[in-house]
Amino acid sequence: MFLPELKSLPDEDICLLVKLDNHTPHYICECGDAGLLSVKDCQNTQVIFISHTHIDHFVNFDTILRHQIGIEKKVVICGPAGIAEQVHSKIKAYTWNLIEAGSIVYEVREIINEQEINIYELEPPKWELRKTGVISKNIIFDNERFQVNFTLLDHKIPSVAYLFKEMDTVKIDLSKRELKTAFEQKIPNNEIVIEGKSRLAKDLFHLLDIKKGNTLGVIMDHASSAENHAKIKALFSGCDKVFIESFYKLEDKTFAEANYHSYSQASGCIMRECAVKEAIPVHFSRKYKEEDLRLLIEEFERAYKGD
Ligand SMILES: [Zn+2]
Ligand SMILES: [Zn+2]
Repeated sequence: MFLPELKSLPDEDICLLVKLDNHTPHYICECGDAGLLSVKDCQNTQVIFISHTHIDHFVNFDTILRHQIGIEKKVVICGPAGIAEQVHSKIKAYTWNLIEAGSIVYEVREIINEQEINIYELEPPKWELRKTGVISKNIIFDNERFQVNFTLLDHKIPSVAYLFKEMDTVKIDLSKRELKTAFEQKIPNNEIVIEGKSRLAKDLFHLLDIKKGNTLGVIMDHASSAENHAKIKALFSGCDKVFIESFYKLEDKTFAEANYHSYSQASGCIMRECAVKEAIPVHFSRKYKEEDLRLLIEEFERAYKGD
């Protein structure tokens, strides 16, 4: 189960911390300036997911880096094309002569297109940017608990929208242990003997009590266009929880169009069309104060609920 926490206040840049139950590492989505993000949150973070590098999504990377120096672990940074050089440039703005090798390693996974990811590595004190590999699939990160798929939305530049998908699990039932193992180890053609008759495991999977993995979407800046909405529907339909950019009020729709952003009504509508179980509007223009923000969220909720 994903346990996301918004670390930015409504009038701050966006930053989301994702935790899971019974799982130690944390995950940060977006590096906006966020008052609630603690030193410990940064030190426990294993992966940073960035949609794009407009300043309001990347400005706080320096602070996170500041807190992560010395954790002696590898931290993965995921983001769009160009992010490896941008991380490198940010780091090179400081002097590192007193920092030892191994105090941290950054691995940058740079999304070139929806099936191609370049991997780079850099570590102190020299921070040379070295290309170390390529991933040729639509999974930017995975571990024993979940995987992260993505799509590229149009924000006049590519903006990566991430889908966190927890693995399906099987409830323990000792009488079906063999079948459970075949399911978990993805060996559908294993032969299993039931009442003296041999059957293929895949023909018996329907007998298992499978708990569907939890899903979490993070959809940041995107134009409210038919192409973007089709991509959102393809990836996020039926999702348990989604945080979606809702930068403008409906009456400022022309600003949204000019800036390749979404707005309250359009974000609410697409979440309804995706049948998302819980949609949360985030990332609002800083020009809005209390009353405007209240209206913006109301517009989103009306569209989401279809009132
Ligand atoms: Zn942006
Ligand atoms: Zn933004």
